[in-house]
Amino acid sequence: MRYAVFADIHSNLEALERVLGVYASESIEQYIFLGDAVGYSVDPVPCIQRIRSLPLTAVAGNHDQAAVNLFSVDNFSPEAREAIFWTRRNLDEDSKQFLESLKLTFQNHDFTMVHGTLNSPQDFNYMEDGFIAEETFRLMKTPLCFIGHTHVAGVFIKDKEDHICYRENASVDIEAENKYIINVGSVGQPRDGNPAASYCIYDSQAKKVTLKRIDYDIAVAQKKIVDAGLPELLGHRLFMGR
Ligand code: ZN
Repeated sequence: MRYAVFADIHSNLEALERVLGVYASESIEQYIFLGDAVGYSVDPVPCIQRIRSLPLTAVAGNHDQAAVNLFSVDNFSPEAREAIFWTRRNLDEDSKQFLESLKLTFQNHDFTMVHGTLNSPQDFNYMEDGFIAEETFRLMKTPLCFIGHTHVAGVFIKDKEDHICYRENASVDIEAENKYIINVGSVGQPRDGNPAASYCIYDSQAKKVTLKRIDYDIAVAQKKIVDAGLPELLGHRLFMGR
């Protein structure tokens, strides 16, 4: 099975369309979305409609939940909060129902999905280092766990001696004796200094996880943010990849 695995669209339709365009030529059979369809930018409804048209399995992100009052914005940055208030005013009923329906985790025989970490997924903690990764590794009942949330693509690998290493932006061949936490980065607001959209392909037969980047029209996405009256920083940071 070839899976498209992606996260953190954040209402950026230009980035989403570009990534889905690439997936269309990659013989994808299932789409795996790791949360944060909305927030920060101005196309929440088109983004939700677009991913719902795909064979999709999805989990909730903090912005998805905040947009439908299931998660507090108290710890959000002022810009993120303002964008959530804007999003609440601009969602339709269908999109609200979709966001409300998203679960925090998903698991099949092969992989687990969560936005932040497997320990208390409802708190949306960041997978920032090996210590935090260790807790998720301990809770994993599958060889793979796909995550998002930090907007930085990279892979934590735990070997059979329980050593954990981290490789930023790396593709990996899955080996049976290891466990993997794969952060697929962000489609709509990358934060590793590279503004190109992040996306991932998982081939379960070939046992390969590939992390990739693709350029998109940032100027269009930025202008929409400014024109909607959202904080200019939210447009500017797209060029910085921060
Ligand atoms: Zn996010």
